[in-house]
Amino acid sequence: MYLYNSLTRTKDEFIPNEPGKVSMYTCGPTVYHFAHIGNLRTYIMEDILDRYLRYAGYAVTRVMNITDVGHLTSDADTGEDKMLKGAKREHKTVMEIAKFYTDKFFEDCEALHIRRPEVVQPATECVEEFIRVIKSLIEKGYAYEAGGNIYFDTSKLEQYYVFNNFEEEDLAVGVREGVEEDGNKRNKADFVLWFTKSKFDDQELKWDSPWGVGYPGWHIECSCISMKNLGERLDIHCGGIDNAFPHHTNEIAQSEAYLGHKWCNWWVHVLHLNTNSGKMSKSKGEFLTLSLLASKGYDPMVYRFFCLQSHYRKSLVFSYENMDNAKVAYGKLISRIASLREEGEVDEAAFAELKASFVKAMDNDLNTSLAVTALYDVLKAKTNGATKLALLRDFDRVLCLDLLENAAKKRAEDAAVAEESKAADDPFVAWIEEQIEARRAAKASKNYAEADRIRAELLGKGVTLIDTKEGTTYRIGDAT
Ligand code: AMP
Ligand code: ZN
Repeated sequence: MYLYNSLTRTKDEFIPNEPGKVSMYTCGPTVYHFAHIGNLRTYIMEDILDRYLRYAGYAVTRVMNITDVGHLTSDADTGEDKMLKGAKREHKTVMEIAKFYTDKFFEDCEALHIRRPEVVQPATECVEEFIRVIKSLIEKGYAYEAGGNIYFDTSKLEQYYVFNNFEEEDLAVGVREGVEEDGNKRNKADFVLWFTKSKFDDQELKWDSPWGVGYPGWHIECSCISMKNLGERLDIHCGGIDNAFPHHTNEIAQSEAYLGHKWCNWWVHVLHLNTNSGKMSKSKGEFLTLSLLASKGYDPMVYRFFCLQSHYRKSLVFSYENMDNAKVAYGKLISRIASLREEGEVDEAAFAELKASFVKAMDNDLNTSLAVTALYDVLKAKTNGATKLALLRDFDRVLCLDLLENAAKKRAEDAAVAEESKAADDPFVAWIEEQIEARRAAKASKNYAEADRIRAELLGKGVTLIDTKEGTTYRIGDAT
């Protein structure tokens, strides 16, 4: 399997540290608001990676953090705490909104068939661990105290910018629009490991530490939660592309300074979901949620299908027109699968050949759009129903589009509609139904003689009425 690595900037053959096993870390959500469908694109594509590794036979252990403290409105450690801002907006405590939005996030994941990682850990549960690692970074000379905060000293590293060759002006991490420069930093790229002083004295969650009462920076949480659960050598770390800098760059800096050796081999970044007016972001406040899509008639599987139709390393444009196209295409796909019958025996040769093109697509840096093409190729193939259904079932272990489940539903719906229209087309059945209705009306007006007459007339034509709590049904033919 070849997987693009942001570190080497090439598609490299994926070889884990230990044969047959993969450790995978995912940056989790900052739980101050609903996840938007852009965030969910990242989690869907990471889920595809997770599921495909399992499909390929690896034993995957996956860990995700929940950011419930320390993420400021600017990724460069300045601005307001996002959690506190969310709590103020909703007149709740930080922990209340953290719980509420964590639950909502996992509800969305379930609806989209995003597997829950083996370990999900909120940052607030790991503060002792953060303090231990920060202490060690100070002892090793990689961190310093200034103005009450602890900073990571990026000048101590041979190479800080690992994902890109930045120009001099890009070093101005702390200086962004509307954000003040932090005068405590020795170097512009330095970042906060522990805050005891911030502009916001009303920070709700604080912990005691050797440097005073305060709270951790955002970056340290992912390094520590990963190392705590997955050890010193990580196979894959993933996140959205905006996390590459500064978040992942800082994670690498502090983890490798702490460990004294290389930490993570593969960095996988999912490109953004954009709208026509630019990047979708939670902080902008104008974002789309999965439940909003559902309320407009788009099933979560349609959104998953929409995401799989394009490659994770290309940005994706959301529009209702694009969603409508995905909805139509998904509906047609399900109808075609619904028309298949489990006929014949699985043809092993055809199965292997068609599966190979799916595997080839996925082995090539998770090319999900080609994998979807492989799915259509199965439908077109000259082989029997049993082979086709076996292949679709197999691919859907990775794609998780509910292909067979929704096809079965579609068949049941079609059968019910056919039954109804058959009744409507048959004048005898229509007449029986009219008589049943007339008898119901007669009984309702206490005209029991008329009701009995209708029953007798029907019986004379071979129709036996059956009264149940739910209403009257009938049987044609035998009167037993
Ligand atoms: P957050 O909850 O803001 O910490 O973000 C959760 C995940 O969503 C991170 O991996 C981000 O990189 C990712 N993300 C943020 N915005 C987008 C977007 N517009 N499209 C795709 N992924 C995004
Ligand atoms: Zn992270």
